[in-house]
Amino acid sequence: MFADVAFPISGFQTFTYKIPKDLVSEVQIGSRVTVQFGPRKTQGIVTGLKNESSFSGKIKDIAGLVDNLPIMTPELWKLIQWMSQYYVTPLGQVGKAVLPKNLSTRYNPPKSWMVQAKPIFDDEDLEAVKKRAPKQYEVYQKIWKVKKPIQVSSLKDLASNPLNVCRGLEKRKLVTLFEETSLPDITGFTFDPIHKKVSFNSHQQVAVDAICKSLDKKEYSPFLLHGVTGSGKTEIYVEGVRHCLAQKRTAIILLPEISLTPQIAGRFRAVFGDTIALWHSKLTQAQRSWTWKEICKGTFKVVIGARSAVFAPLKHLGLIVIDEEQESSFRQDSPAPRYHARDVALMRATYEGASVVLSSATPSLESYYNYLHKKLSYLHLPERYGGAKYPHVHLVDMLSDQEESGKYGQIFSGLLQDKIEDRLNKKEQIILLQNRRGYSPVIRCGDCGEIVMCPQCKVALTFHSKGSQLICHFCGHIEIKQRETCIHCRCSNMKYSGTGTQRVESILEETFPQARVARLDMDTAGTSQGLISILKAFANGEIDILLGTQMIAKGLDFPNATLVGIINADLGLHLPDFRSGERIFQLIYQASGRAGRRKIPGEVVIQTYVPDNPVIKNAAKLDMIKYYNIALSERNELKYPPFSWMAKIEITGENQIAVDSLSERISKLLNGKYKGLDVLGPAPCYLEKLRNQYRFQIVFKSLKSIDPNGYRLHKFIQDNFMDIQKKYRPGKNRINIHFDPLSLI
Ligand code: ADP
Ligand code: ZN
Repeated sequence: MFADVAFPISGFQTFTYKIPKDLVSEVQIGSRVTVQFGPRKTQGIVTGLKNESSFSGKIKDIAGLVDNLPIMTPELWKLIQWMSQYYVTPLGQVGKAVLPKNLSTRYNPPKSWMVQAKPIFDDEDLEAVKKRAPKQYEVYQKIWKVKKPIQVSSLKDLASNPLNVCRGLEKRKLVTLFEETSLPDITGFTFDPIHKKVSFNSHQQVAVDAICKSLDKKEYSPFLLHGVTGSGKTEIYVEGVRHCLAQKRTAIILLPEISLTPQIAGRFRAVFGDTIALWHSKLTQAQRSWTWKEICKGTFKVVIGARSAVFAPLKHLGLIVIDEEQESSFRQDSPAPRYHARDVALMRATYEGASVVLSSATPSLESYYNYLHKKLSYLHLPERYGGAKYPHVHLVDMLSDQEESGKYGQIFSGLLQDKIEDRLNKKEQIILLQNRRGYSPVIRCGDCGEIVMCPQCKVALTFHSKGSQLICHFCGHIEIKQRETCIHCRCSNMKYSGTGTQRVESILEETFPQARVARLDMDTAGTSQGLISILKAFANGEIDILLGTQMIAKGLDFPNATLVGIINADLGLHLPDFRSGERIFQLIYQASGRAGRRKIPGEVVIQTYVPDNPVIKNAAKLDMIKYYNIALSERNELKYPPFSWMAKIEITGENQIAVDSLSERISKLLNGKYKGLDVLGPAPCYLEKLRNQYRFQIVFKSLKSIDPNGYRLHKFIQDNFMDIQKKYRPGKNRINIHFDPLSLI
């Protein structure tokens, strides 16, 4: 027997080794093996098995097995191969992205003491305890009431040393004490288990039935679950997963950002308990490799996580759910492989015969198009669960508002101010969206107009009032001192303009001194703990106004939040990118969906300077179909996705002239080769310099009407960019391939 072995190197091939007789029964696809590779012994992964080898040279033996079980599944290996081809990235590099960095790292999960009440036969014993050891009696009461094992540490509010008290109870034979392994850092990212009595409405039932039926077929079945915000999509996932587990299959739930979705994780934990693994960037290397191996062993049946959870090595995968599938965080842009977890999930599901649910209130235009073209089955939840009404939306034209009031440059319109006042009086909560962090995003010289820029990026520095710093939001460059004078004309007329969350926060504090305000942006949510404590405080009613960037727009469910204010809906609308309109529409729609999710009806105030812009106008009407039709016809006209396949070649380097001339050289070499493709560039990117790197791009588009599966564009990219080093000799510059890029800036 022979084995194909892949190594984490930057090549596209695998290498053949002979399997020694004593290992034949153990070596499987996905096994890690040690082999001689060139001058050294190294570890590789078995990716294929065969009886014969066509290789004519000397074939070495596999030296040994690393683990006692395969650390990958054959389907996952197929997926890695597909990604390598599709995203034109060496196999080893894809492997690196998929597997935890150091699988050999040891991790012993911490243990915690559990206690459970024993059945009592003699009430008199208990009476005696009540008299002689009242503390023990009190603790026992609580343990007995729960009827299940509970963590000893959860009794802390009853006794300062609950373990001691429990030991006393154990001596009296009233309880059993035992140690249990607690899983890595799950509680840190979830709310407490959320228990719920579920009864589906008719729309939900239709969706659940369709998903369960597709699971029964065990064939690839992709769905678009389009459910308005608050329609109860989470309960559909829960039911799908339940069905899937009953079939002895496994499931993956992808969330746009794990730390933002403690509610979903908490809900899953309540239903499925310890079969859930969380997979996110905050796990340590050791926790990662431990979790990975436990998934391989079959300890975990459901993996919830951010985009890389799509690679979880689950066997018999039955269901993948992608929550908020339109979110750009599912795309990895750097380093390679530059993949989209949604597309990878669809591919994985075809290999596994699994069902996929792409879920959103505002699907990506791609998925919407794919549903129109019958590539996705459509499931619709048109109503909020439990009869909650959709919010009433007010669109405020800031220009005319300010003309009327004479208060130019006001951040709050009269209407929004009144509504905030009203909710504060009624003790209802308010969510405010300002999608820009910091205090002032632009610092400009009042005399010569020069803007203070990041020295490494061609981007304006943002003033942060906390610590009086100027910060670049792209590379993190910080200048501690405020700029007093213009470096260009030396005058001292520096103007701090534009509005970030910090400025809104200080205006709120001035205007509504009685309100308790919390700010949620990357600066305050630096740690997931910070984020969770803010969200918990808001859920508990300890905060009146939650102000934040797009972080607050997603997925959150707060019953008492009845007013949403979007302070400047136009932010980002005018970026020169074909997706900017779609993004802003989705953001406004999602944010509006946070209002009035229960009995009390909600209201939304959207402030804009361009009330007639189709994005703003239709978002304010919550008319998704109308806007999507407009957006689709624009994309069609300009041959953008989803009407075409797109690839972007990005050329970067420290020397502007060198990058420019390399781009020209590539373009010349390609000249005449791209029959049937549309080409844009080479041209400098909109953000022409980031992190000291100048950036140029060439964009290729291939119309779906002539290239339905994208083969033509793929072949072109593979033929011309597989071997970048030899072909173009970029030297110190880099050539990056982005297939299906999300943005062109
Ligand atoms: P979405 O994700 O679609 O915005 P959620 O899943 O957060 O909506 O559901 C909104 C609220 O309605 C949640 O509190 C949820 O628990 C509740 N809910 C939804 N469906 C049901 C159901 N079938 N039974 C009980 N409660 C439900
Ligand atoms: Zn910078």
